[in-house]
Amino acid sequence: MTSSAYPNTLVTDFDGTLTRTDFFQAVLERLVDDNLSIWNRYCQGSITHFEALAGYYRQIRIQQSKLLEMVNELGFPKNFANLVNGLRKNKWDVVIASAGCEWYIRYLVNLSDINPSPIVHANGGTYSDDAGLVMELPRHSPHFHPEIGISKASVVKAHMGLNRSVAFAGDGPTDLEPALLVDPKLRFAKGALARLLSDKEEEFIPFYDWDEIPNHLPEMDSN
Ligand SMILES: [Mg+2]
Repeated sequence: MTSSAYPNTLVTDFDGTLTRTDFFQAVLERLVDDNLSIWNRYCQGSITHFEALAGYYRQIRIQQSKLLEMVNELGFPKNFANLVNGLRKNKWDVVIASAGCEWYIRYLVNLSDINPSPIVHANGGTYSDDAGLVMELPRHSPHFHPEIGISKASVVKAHMGLNRSVAFAGDGPTDLEPALLVDPKLRFAKGALARLLSDKEEEFIPFYDWDEIPNHLPEMDSN
C-alpha cells in the first residue's frame, strides 16, 4: 500500500518528533557505557551518522523484553491511531522517515494497530540478546542515503506533485534539508531543527508534542 490513496502527506521524523525522547539518547544514557568516543568520531567526520548509531546499538546487551520496556517509555503518542485515522479522513496520510532503526519504530507503530499501517522509511535492523541491535543500511530503498541511511528530503520530494501538499515535522539537524523543501505553513519544528531554521530566518510552526500537528493541517481538496 502506498500513500498515493491520499493526496496530501505529512512526512514526519520519528525520534524526538513522534516520540518525546530519542531512542539514541535513551540508549546512551541507560544502556551503553561510553565516553562519547564513537559520537566524537562522527563529529570529527571520520565515521558516518549511520556508523555512529550502529556502533552504539550493537553494544546493547539486555534482554529484548527489557529493551522493549525502554522503547515503550520513549513517549510515543498514545492516541496515534486516532490521530492518523483523523488525518486520513481529511485526506492527509502520515509517512515516517527516520535515520534511526525500523526495529523499534515498527514495534511502536504496530502497537497502534492502524490499518493500513503507516509507511516507515528507516534503517533495517534485528535484535538479539547476544549481538545487540544490528542495524543495516537500506541499500535497496529508493530513498537510500549512504551516510544516514534514509534521505528524508528524497521522501518529501517523492510525495510532492500537482494538487498534492506535503508537510514535514522534525527536530534535528538531519531534518533541515527536508524541512526547507516544504511550505513554511506546513513546516513543523522543535529542538535543534527549530534553532537551525531560526538562524536562517526561515519560518516554521513550533510544536512540543506531535499530537498538536494534525490541528494545524488544513482541510484539503483532493482535486
Ligand atoms: Mg529526530
